[in-house]
Amino acid sequence: SPCMSIPSKLPHVGTTIFTVMSKLAQECGAINLSQGFPDFPIDENLIELVEQAMRAGHNQYAPMAGIPALREVIAAKVQRLYGHAYDPETEVTVTAGGTQAIFTALGAVVHPGDEVIIVDPAYDCYAPTVELFGGRPVHVRLGSDMRFDADAVKAAITPRTRVLMINTPHNPAGTILRDADMRRIADMLRGTDILLLSDEVYEHLVFDGESHASAINYPELRDRAYVIFSFGKVFHTTGWKMGYALASRALMKEFRKVHQFNVFSANTPVQHALAEYMKDPLRYEQVPAFYEEKRDRFLVGLRASRFEPLACEGSYFQLADYSRISEEPDTVFAERLAREFGVAAIPISVFYKEPPAGQRILRFCFAKQEETLDNAIEKLCEI
Ligand code: GLN
Repeated sequence: SPCMSIPSKLPHVGTTIFTVMSKLAQECGAINLSQGFPDFPIDENLIELVEQAMRAGHNQYAPMAGIPALREVIAAKVQRLYGHAYDPETEVTVTAGGTQAIFTALGAVVHPGDEVIIVDPAYDCYAPTVELFGGRPVHVRLGSDMRFDADAVKAAITPRTRVLMINTPHNPAGTILRDADMRRIADMLRGTDILLLSDEVYEHLVFDGESHASAINYPELRDRAYVIFSFGKVFHTTGWKMGYALASRALMKEFRKVHQFNVFSANTPVQHALAEYMKDPLRYEQVPAFYEEKRDRFLVGLRASRFEPLACEGSYFQLADYSRISEEPDTVFAERLAREFGVAAIPISVFYKEPPAGQRILRFCFAKQEETLDNAIEKLCEI
């Protein structure tokens, strides 16, 4: 029959905003600063390494947890940066991107009725994934200036809390967690059996001389954490859908039980290429300066417009308040910005369970060539 209907498991969920806005940008020929992805070419050396891996015959399933060479280079990098040696054999798993790693981690630990604390504005896969596994998302908000509000998070903890999800640098807010925040989180979780899911996919996009406060740096947090990373954000290869998860042996054991049945293993030739490419720390050490320059270029431009930029401490997203331009809700204004002014951005209300009344903020992605940024600024200054 042509009209079979099934009861939705996610009745409130539509199509992700990233797909909606990128499609709109394409339809109306707008400069796409909405969905976060680089518009510049990747390193030729990396492409050659993938080609070499394919020609060398690395085209069949990788081991379920990832090829040993890549897990080893990941463990070495993490030890170098965050001072803890994860065991590549039992504590590192290569995934098909950060989103899959988050899905798998939540699938491994969320039981029906469990509460998962989510800090809004939150990346849009968090809450639906919790719901799919029968959990209950408990939403709290970032505090003033889009900074972590430890008191609000602490107040949301109940005996049913199973996981706290944090994200630093934060998408979409562009703020980072600092040492004091991490210590507060350690304090509030001490003596509980609450797990931490720490989404650190923008670890290398931290600016102004600050350092990335990884959950790995804090033994108390590390022991209860799944820490999620992404190769796409570091090497400008979002379309390769490659990432990894780190966790203690016991937590990783449960993670892999799910991982083996939702992807089994991630792309083999790309794993070989990354294992080789990452041996040189320069390949990721140059990332912060590279993006800081882009942030500065976009920020200077934006300051000449009627948009009011918020602080961007990390990630490749710049928030801007448009209250001086329009009173429209952000979804309406974002659509008009794309159609009438030729720039696509993300309305951040979609990242809230309940968006704050009267908040008028859009998210712009500055992972773009200078020319793209300059063209966008020219248009934004005309408004
Ligand atoms: N992480 C990207 C962003 O925030 C989007 C990834 C996706 O489209 N799923 O824009």
